Amino acid sequence: HVMSSGSYDYFQFVQQWPPTNCIVRTKCSKPRPLQIFTIHGLWPSNYSNPKKPSNCNGSKFEDRKVYPQLRKDLKKSWPDVESGNDTRFWEGEWNKHGRCSEQTLNQMQYFERSHAMWTSFNITEILKNASIVPHPTQTWTYSDIVSPIKTATKRTPLLRCKPDPAQPKNQRPQPKGQRPQPNSPPQSQLLHEVVFCYEFNALKQIDCNRTPGCINQVNISFQ
Ligand code: 5GP
Ligand code: 5GP
Repeated sequence: HVMSSGSYDYFQFVQQWPPTNCIVRTKCSKPRPLQIFTIHGLWPSNYSNPKKPSNCNGSKFEDRKVYPQLRKDLKKSWPDVESGNDTRFWEGEWNKHGRCSEQTLNQMQYFERSHAMWTSFNITEILKNASIVPHPTQTWTYSDIVSPIKTATKRTPLLRCKPDPAQPKNQRPQPKGQRPQPNSPPQSQLLHEVVFCYEFNALKQIDCNRTPGCINQVNISFQ
């Protein structure tokens, strides 16, 4: 299989925390800071080439295949939290990722499966039951957040973080005559996404193996 026709080993089902998404992205023109995890995408993925496949040849997104009930479901589970253009977001994700797994899921199945995955576990509730609720100053360790999710799903998820733009990157001027300090590590990073992994057929959830998208040893903020 060549890359452009979409060779992949497993799926990553990526859910985003909308407030973080709009803190780290400058192009949130019409932010929807929902307090629930929503879908970013379902990404066919490779163990050997982590960001592949993407942008494969295949059927272009067709809006008519999002039938009314599916549209209603996706408006809840998969909203565009940046600019409110849900259809364009779905189109982008299908064209970049979905088309690479078309041999397994056609466009309709791709969106139906994604919505079903979203319904299967409510990350927001799982975290709330573990007393992990959005808070502007509190932070958690990677395992604080992963553990309750792992217990509920019986599978290892992956956390993806982004640097907190509110934390200055050591730009403070040094006092005269003093040598610059070595870079100090950030105090915390923002929880951006939670990833579930599924085997090739997108049915059975498996442990995620990809390197966490969070810096080890740096506490995680969830706000
Ligand atoms: P980031 O820089 O946030 O890690 O990733 C930017 C984009 O690259 C993602 O939105 C996604 O489209 C793609 N990407 C990142 N990691 C992966 C991965 O593990 N698998 C696939 N298929 N795409 C990825
Ligand atoms: P990716 O991160 O998958 O490579 O690309 C996501 C694309 O969808 C970006 O161009 C981003 O601006 C757009 N987009 C629209 N709405 C959303 C949203 O709610 N979340 C994310 N992560 N991207 C969105």
